[in-house]
Amino acid sequence: MRSVRAVSLGDNTVYLLELDGTRVLIDPGPDFEGARDLLTESLRGTSPDVVIATHGHLDHAGLGAWWQEQGLPVALHPLDWPFATGEAPSEAEFAALKQLALASGAPPDVAASAAAAIESRRAWSVAARTAQRHPPAGRDRRWPTGLLYRPFLPRLALDDVDVGGLELLHLPGHTPGNAVVWVPSEGWLFSGDQLLPGITPTPALQGHHGHGPASDWRFRSFPAFLGALRSLQALQPTRCFPGHGEPFGDVVAVIEANLEQAEQRLNRAVGALRDAAGSSLYELAERLYPRAVRRRFWQILATVQGLIDVLEFRGLVAYEDGRWRLTQAASTSFS
Ligand SMILES: [Zn+2]
Repeated sequence: MRSVRAVSLGDNTVYLLELDGTRVLIDPGPDFEGARDLLTESLRGTSPDVVIATHGHLDHAGLGAWWQEQGLPVALHPLDWPFATGEAPSEAEFAALKQLALASGAPPDVAASAAAAIESRRAWSVAARTAQRHPPAGRDRRWPTGLLYRPFLPRLALDDVDVGGLELLHLPGHTPGNAVVWVPSEGWLFSGDQLLPGITPTPALQGHHGHGPASDWRFRSFPAFLGALRSLQALQPTRCFPGHGEPFGDVVAVIEANLEQAEQRLNRAVGALRDAAGSSLYELAERLYPRAVRRRFWQILATVQGLIDVLEFRGLVAYEDGRWRLTQAASTSFS
């Protein structure tokens, strides 16, 4: 017998998947006040055999420590273990982000408030790992209280999980160790944050946590994220169970819409670069998102850096003296 039970935990949705007698919980869940009771009640006395975290972010894996204390192993791709153990994001990563804001060409007041925002994010991340009590709910009220993330060492890597009829696919992008759960016989995809209803998520600016070149701290998340979408497209899933919101059908159409939207953004970026004699990251952000860049600096910068990363991979832009310019290849391929 194959069944899925969705449990909503504030803004997140976790799933109890039953596959021929084996129960798999997909995502440990976020650790807000009351989440454990809610989860225990919703599972109605059934206990999963294994807990799989799609990735290491706190709203998905925050209850990992608790599950392991209940005697249940949590599986997470080793590239995301630094999130679970509390090593990531590191002080060095926060410092590198600040540096990125300064080097982006942003005006001094914008760079200063961006640096302040990084400081408060750092404080928040430390508090989530170390606070004894749940912090108050954020302004967006996505969860009843703020979230904790008690550090833990996952007992399993994804490769250690052996459940008949289930495949764990490592699809880096949203994070370096991001994974989805795939049930080929049913066409079911448990997508974590890779595929969500209604929005096209842009991966944040993030480090590769020591698994990339030592000379460059940054993980090129958006090119990888688009590659992951193409891998999912090839699977032709029939139903998607996302980490936020409700399950949905028409999965291939949603994937195609996401890819299409990315191509449109990439074309707009090429257009904006064609009009200018080279552009700093911030200037490009201002040209593409004039109203939002000051208000949502980090989100916009992550989006624009992501676009640049893809264009650089395709050989269409090059960086010189603090500015991005179209290459010869771009002027011939887009003329
Ligand atoms: Zn996430």
